[in-house]
Amino acid sequence: MTHLIFAATCDIAGKTRGKAFPESDLERRLIRGVGWTPTNVQINCFDGIAETPFGALGDLLLVPDKSARVDMNFGSQRESFILGDIVTLEGNPWELCTRTILRKALTRLHKVSGLKLRAAFEHEFQLKSKSGLEGEGFGRAGFERHRALCETIVTHITGAGLKLDSIMKEYGPEQYEVVIAPEEGVKAADAAVIVREIVRSVARQMDEEATFSPICDPSSVGNGVHIHMSFVDERGAPATYDPKGNCGMSRVTDAFVAGVLKYLDSILALTAASVISYFRLTPHRWSAAYNNLGFQDREASVRICPVTSQDPNSVASQFNIEYRAADASACPHLALAAIVHAGVQGIEDKLKAPQATTEDLSLLSEKDLKSRGFIRLPETLESAITQMNKNPMLRSWFSNSFIDIYTAHKKSEMDHVKDLDDAAICAIYERTY
Ligand code: GLU
Ligand code: MG
Repeated sequence: MTHLIFAATCDIAGKTRGKAFPESDLERRLIRGVGWTPTNVQINCFDGIAETPFGALGDLLLVPDKSARVDMNFGSQRESFILGDIVTLEGNPWELCTRTILRKALTRLHKVSGLKLRAAFEHEFQLKSKSGLEGEGFGRAGFERHRALCETIVTHITGAGLKLDSIMKEYGPEQYEVVIAPEEGVKAADAAVIVREIVRSVARQMDEEATFSPICDPSSVGNGVHIHMSFVDERGAPATYDPKGNCGMSRVTDAFVAGVLKYLDSILALTAASVISYFRLTPHRWSAAYNNLGFQDREASVRICPVTSQDPNSVASQFNIEYRAADASACPHLALAAIVHAGVQGIEDKLKAPQATTEDLSLLSEKDLKSRGFIRLPETLESAITQMNKNPMLRSWFSNSFIDIYTAHKKSEMDHVKDLDDAAICAIYERTY
């Protein structure tokens, strides 16, 4: 049997798309790639095609990166895929390639601060079949019900060269969570794609279906993607922590967080990318509804995570900040690029992060919120897209064409669901993510 390898990109829709080639052609394909079409960037998550400046014209290459290869053995079936970069026929980076966009943001971070980013994406997902078990938030019975699935997921995560932190039965009905250890740079976003694809494949192989949809039932909890970030210097030494800083943040972390909070409403469309992302980003869901910093607070958009050690060296390397206003409708590369650009802007502009909030911001009047520098984040994808377009900074971080393409892409997604009621919108997103 000819074994096929699937060369893939994670696109604007947060979908993993690509083309397969025989494994025997791998060496050649690592150089020449597979053919790719510019208009593919406008295929939305429902397979509609948004307005495209490319039409039927143009050719690109999707070039697999062998360091981002995953092989999964399922009995007689072997699933192989490799993430890659989209380049022009001349081999130059394509400006709408999501990996390229993230690389550019990380290069900017390095140039401005001399630091590298380590990140870990924490994913929540739900299984579609009903176990019939109740009261199993973090429950052992709920875990046992899908122990085999969890163990198979972990086997393949480890097989892909990633390290598992933990896996659990989360609070929500049929909800599970998988957390991996941090990776450096682009690899961190690749790892997020790899985890999603492994979970989906394993579920399918076990006659289950997993969904990472931001929310399946608005009366219940959502599926968040929490992005943990820390910095290391050239020598790999931790640079995120300073015991004398605000909430233990080093100067650079403080300014980075200040930038993320300042630009949060403008980057939200890139981290919470679907219509139903905004059903999740409401108060009292342990997601994120305001542009606030929290110290170990799960209702904050940016949270300082707890460290589990008293040893100062270990505290410095464990210390990390968590961005909670993200979900799996967003391409991990674009979400991380947006956060990094906002953070780097904070570093460049020497911004100072506010004090961490310790109260329920939803109880404050609009006037009180404003006087304390807080805003309610955009409450629909449409207003998040409008906000992204209003802020000229976004066009300088990305490019005019990226912002225009992204806006048209998301408009087609919004149009697709505009006549559906909330339950039908949740159902259609549940199927696609
Ligand atoms: N499910 C929550 C969310 O939508 C997160 C719960 C938690 O803190 O893990 O982000
Ligand atoms: Mg969780």
